[in-house]
Parts: sequence; C-alpha cells; structure tokens
Amino acid sequence: MRFTHIYVEERALGYPLTEEILAKLPDSHVIKIRHYKDVFDRKRQNAPLQKEHQALIIAVRDGSRIFKGAPVCQSMGQKNFYYASSMMNCPFDCEYCYLKGMYPSSNMVVFVNLEDYRRDVEEKLKEGPMYVCASYDTDLLAMNQLTGHADFWKEMALSEEDLLVELRTKAAVQVTDNISNIIYAFTLSPSDVIGRFEKNTAPLGARIGAAAKAIESGAKVRLCFDPIIKIPEWKEAYKELVEACAGQIDLGRLTDVSVGTFRISSDYLNRMRRAYPGSATAWYPYVIKDGVAQYEPETDKAMQEYVCGLLEKHIGREKIFTWN
Ligand code: SF4
Repeated sequence: MRFTHIYVEERALGYPLTEEILAKLPDSHVIKIRHYKDVFDRKRQNAPLQKEHQALIIAVRDGSRIFKGAPVCQSMGQKNFYYASSMMNCPFDCEYCYLKGMYPSSNMVVFVNLEDYRRDVEEKLKEGPMYVCASYDTDLLAMNQLTGHADFWKEMALSEEDLLVELRTKAAVQVTDNISNIIYAFTLSPSDVIGRFEKNTAPLGARIGAAAKAIESGAKVRLCFDPIIKIPEWKEAYKELVEACAGQIDLGRLTDVSVGTFRISSDYLNRMRRAYPGSATAWYPYVIKDGVAQYEPETDKAMQEYVCGLLEKHIGREKIFTWN
C-alpha cells in the first residue's frame, strides 16, 4: 500500500497505532494537522483526482463511532444491528460506491483510538447482544496489514460472546481463523461487473477461492451478491456467477447469503452526480422511493428474484436475505 502523503492529527501522535502505521510507510511525506476535518471536509475538493493519489489521514474519532444500521443496509435477520466507522473511504474504487456521495473527499481516514470503540461496544452490549457490521464505510480486511482494524474486531469478538461482527470485503483475503462470532462476508460480482465497475478489487476467481478456503478453515462465511448491477446481459452474467460459486464452494456450508440490487440514498446520488458527471452508474435514471434511488420496481424485483432462484438450487431459502 502506497500513500505519498500522510496527514496526522497532532492528538493522534501519542497513539501506538499511529506509530505502527507510520513505521510501515517510511517513505511517505508526513504532515501534522489540527483536525482531520480541516483536510477531509475542505470545500471544492476534486474527489476523482484524489482517488488517483489517495492520501492517508490518521485521526482520533470523537462523538459517535457506532451507529444504528440504515434501512438500505441488510440486518440479515439480526436484532440490534449497528455499523462501526473506524475508517472512512476505501482502497478500492467501485464506480457505484455510495461513499462517493457520502464523503467530500476520497482520502482515507484511519482512526487510531480503538480503545474508545471497545468501550462503546461494551456499553451497548449492556443492553443485550449486538450485531456490528465493522467494514461498511471501508474494507477493513484489505487494509488490515497496515491498520490492524480487522484484528481489533476479531479480538473484540473473542472477548465478547454476545457480539457478532461482519467483516465484508472485495479482497481475496486469506482467512485462517474460525472465530464463531465473526462472519467473513465476500462480495461477489460477475467478472464483467468487476472489470467495468470495481476498479482495483480482487478478481472473481480469487474471491471465490478465498471464500472456499475460509469455509475449509471452519470460518463463518457469507456471500454477498450485492449490489446486483443492471448490465444489459445481467441474467446470463449472474447465472454464470452462481454456477462458478457452486463449482468451487459447497454453498450448503455457507452461514447465509445476501442478495440486493443497487440502491443509494437520493442525497448521496445527487452528490455523486455532481462529483462524477461522466459516471454511467450515477446518471442512470433511477426511481426514487422513500428517499432511496433504485432500479424501476419491476426490474428491481425481477433481478432479486432471479438471483434468489439461482441460489435456491444450492442453499435453503431461509438462508437467503434480500434488502426489501
Ligand atoms: S469495496 Fe465497497 S467500500 Fe470499497 S469502493 Fe467498493 S463498494 Fe466502496
């Protein structure tokens, strides 16, 4: 991982994780800053250009760190569904990524005060078991060698049996542990979608292979066919995708599967359109329903049902979750 520039909040300098990250990036130019928002929230940033030369920002997160899951996200049948934001932005560059509409910057922020996240989780656990998606606004597994955030959540899961953590990724990570309350969620897309819309992510075969190995090591594995993207030949593409998975993975051994068509908050979509005027994904004529931009209702339903139908040949319907 290469970052030519690293911005470090002055108050983050005393944290051991800051030292560890800086030691792993000895050639980067380090700039001290007062607050990460001074850089990250600056007006008139060129997010597409920043993505080409992504900088790293090391910071301390105040205020809310763990949030109630949004309606567009899937709870996968779990109560007390939260997501944690310990990093912002992603090393990958998916054209459809909602982060493009959520953040004013493409630079990556890594928060180093993980002990505060630990305390937040411990506090919330007093109300009962909780399910935390820890890798929503980023890809923690892809970044783990540098930041150790995925390891942090694994340690949390080991010490808190009422905590269930999902680590979602588009990397082909090697999973060697089998912690019962960690779910490794591999997002899969047809090769054509990966090639067109998921820049820098792992190839399909590598992701399927990684998921298969994770199952072999006894880990809980979820496959996410989400977002399903409406390419012209989507039926054939998703059929081939499910067949490729079934050829390498015993789908009956999966913890579950998530299926969802592309959707995005209409506010994020508007910002994405302003920042990426040439993006076909952003400018598709979506239907807005309850503040969520999505494909036309009939198409949306047909795509989800079609993919669910393909999966049902290999895995029980009760293990397949859809977003609506
Ligand atoms: S991997 Fe996920 S978080 Fe990262 S750019 Fe792609 S959609 Fe966004």
